[in-house]
Order: sequence, then structure tokens, then C-alpha cells
Amino acid sequence: MAKKQTEDICSFCGRRRNEVKILISGVEGHICENCVVQAEEIIKEEVKSAKSTHGEVKLRKPIEIKQLLDEYVIGQDEAKQVICVAVYNHYKRINYNLQNRNEEEIEIEKSNILMVGETGTGKTLLARTIAKMLDVPFCIADATVLTEAGYVGEDVENVLVRLLQAADYDVESAERGIVFIDEIDKIARKSDNPSITRDVSGEGVQQALLKLLEGAEVNVPPQGGRKHPDQKMIRVNTQNVLFICGGAFDGIERKIANRLNTNVIGYNKKGIDKLDKSNLLQYVSPQDVRSFGLIPEIVGRLPVVTYLHPLTKETLIRILQEPKNALSKQFHKLFEMDNIAIAFTDDGYELIVDKAIEYKLGARGLRSIVEAVLTDAMFNMPSEKKKKKLIIDAKYVEKQLSKSNISLFQ
Ligand code: ADP
Repeated sequence: MAKKQTEDICSFCGRRRNEVKILISGVEGHICENCVVQAEEIIKEEVKSAKSTHGEVKLRKPIEIKQLLDEYVIGQDEAKQVICVAVYNHYKRINYNLQNRNEEEIEIEKSNILMVGETGTGKTLLARTIAKMLDVPFCIADATVLTEAGYVGEDVENVLVRLLQAADYDVESAERGIVFIDEIDKIARKSDNPSITRDVSGEGVQQALLKLLEGAEVNVPPQGGRKHPDQKMIRVNTQNVLFICGGAFDGIERKIANRLNTNVIGYNKKGIDKLDKSNLLQYVSPQDVRSFGLIPEIVGRLPVVTYLHPLTKETLIRILQEPKNALSKQFHKLFEMDNIAIAFTDDGYELIVDKAIEYKLGARGLRSIVEAVLTDAMFNMPSEKKKKKLIIDAKYVEKQLSKSNISLFQ
């Protein structure tokens, strides 16, 4: 009888079978559902602290970061270099500040980043790849949906809700994460940028955003949405959150040209003669971003400004072939699972890219085009007994695209 009793209690907490819902038997004991949950928590904590010592992020050198970026992002070397240095310094700074918490050492301030470049040139991809590489929480926020508190739209704090979600509500980890704010150019001040037709002043949103960029203790509603008085809030400090902002800044070339022309009158003429007028974006400076309509305080909080090149035909062809998860590699794999070998010819690649340019779909459109080209084959070939090889040349691409309505996508 006594033996039976020991068999029917949890060997960890001592609860009896009738006090728990589930009692799992092992070789020499039992465990109840409560202890399983507790054990899982302990394991999670242990794994987390083994991963990062005292919250430090594993640091990679800038060249090492760039090599990893190269595996996923084609070209954009200038932006990559600037971002690698900024990210490296950012995490060096976090680790340094953690180690010198109580000492009166120099406090190193953070440098958020601004990327200027046409849509679809790889801004989000760069930020996402960096975050993945560093194994820190990452989220994307769209500046166009943000509004000042009290207006219809999302409060700026909701940006941090997404970061918290990405960090599994681990506040400490979220506080070292990366936030990518897309379309920051769309909240530029109206007076300086007449094309913006928002009715809620961009300046108010910029002011609200400034608080996050500067580094502040922010009360975040855990589930997002509007704040209301009885809600339980999570306090998040954004001092160590790296903000990477991106925008197309349509028309900023004019501001750049104006500034450069003013300089011509001064003493800098010699340098100006050598300018590459076909790509003025490469000379973008914080001053131009300010004349575009971002308030000086925001510009001051985005001290690292870089640019992305428009994608040329050659770059688009490389994007199809080279990244680790390039489209051609993905479709190879898909067909391979049905024992079908596919091969793109050079003129096949070229025509796919020409069509992406013609339909104004850019890099984002490459997938739709390749899907349209391969749909027939993906439908028929898995059932065919004999044909196990497919050559995708220009003729094949042309034929398949003429059947699809992809040209109407633009
Ligand atoms: P942006 O944020 O500048 O609007 P994205 O980073 O979202 O553009 O790019 C859209 C898609 O186009 C990416 O998911 C990727 O597939 C492809 N792409 C764009 N630029 C590049 C690049 N330089 N290298 C590799 N892929 C790219």
C-alpha cells in the first residue's frame, strides 16, 4: 500500500494524482503538468543566458558582417559598408555600456541610420538580413500609418509592440533590437513637400517618432491598439534600440543639385566638376533630407545617411541567380523534388529581367514573372512519365508569358 502511494505522487512537487490533471510516469518516478511547465521555463532561461553573457550581443567585425550580407543582398556596396560600421559600433557601444555600467566612463551615443533609395532596391532586405545575422529581435513599421496620439491611425508606441512580439515579450532582448521604419519620407513636412496629401500633419508624427529615436522610456500597451487608462503597460527603454529608417525621397535629387550648385559659387568648384550627374543620390546629405521636410531634430537623430543605387539590368540578373535563396535556386529545388532538372539559359534570364523592367515591377516582380513562366510546367511535369528536363530559354519565357496576364500587373 505504501509503495502505491509513492508511485502516485509527482516526484518533483509531491502533489498527488488527484491534485493534478496529468501525471506522467518515468522509470522511477512521476512528473505532473505543473512541473513540466516549470521545467520548460528553467530550460528557456538557461538557454538564453548561455546564448548571451549578461545581455551582450555576439560581435562580428564589419568585414565579416558584410561578407554575410553579400550572400543575400546583391551590390549596394556603399550602403552595406556604412550599415556594417554603424551596426558594429552600435553593438560595441551596448556591450561597452553594459560592462561599464557603474563607472564614470565616456558615454557613447548611438547612431541610427537613414537609407535613401527607390522602392524595391533592397532597403528592407538589408535591415532584415542584418537582424537575422545578429540574432536580435527585428520588426518593420510603416511610417505612413503612424499618427499623432489622438488621431485615427496607429500611435507611435505600436512600433514597439511589434518589437516586443518579435522578442517574445522579453523586454531586455527587445531593448537591444532593430526597428526598420519604412517610408519615413512620407511623413515629411507638407510645406516643404507639396506632393504629400495627408491631412494629419507629418510634423506631429515626426515629433512623436523623435521620442523613440532619441531613446526614452515608453509605456507600451502589450497588445497594441489605443492606450486606455486601465490598461497594464510594459515599459520599454529605446536607448539601445537601433532604428534604421528608409524612404524613396522622390525628388530629393533636386534638393541635392540645388545644394551642390550653391557650393559651386563658393570655393568648391573643382570637386563639383567631377560629379556624376546621372546619379546624384550618392551625394545625399543630412542637409538635403532636412530640406525635403524632415524636422532638424529627426535629422539629427539619424546621423548615418546612406543611399541605394537603382537596380540595373545586370543587378536584376544577378538577383535571380546569386543570393543564397535566389529564385532560380528555389525553383531548382522545387522541381528537383519531382526528379525534374531545370536550367535557365542566359537569354531566358535576360528576357525575364527585361519584362520586369518593361512592366515596371522591379526586383519585387521577378517572382511573379518566374511563377508565370513556370506554372504550366509545375502543373504538368510532375505527372509526366518521360520528360524530366526543362530548359527555360527566351523562346520558352516568351511563350509562357504571352499566355499569362502578367503584363496587366503594372
Ligand atoms: P525596399 O525596402 O527598398 O523597398 P526590399 O528590400 O523590400 O525593397 O526589396 C524587395 C525585394 O526585391 C526583396 O525581398 C528581394 O527579393 C529583392 N531585392 C531588392 N534589392 C535586392 C538586392 N540588392 N539584392 C537581392 N535582392 C534584392
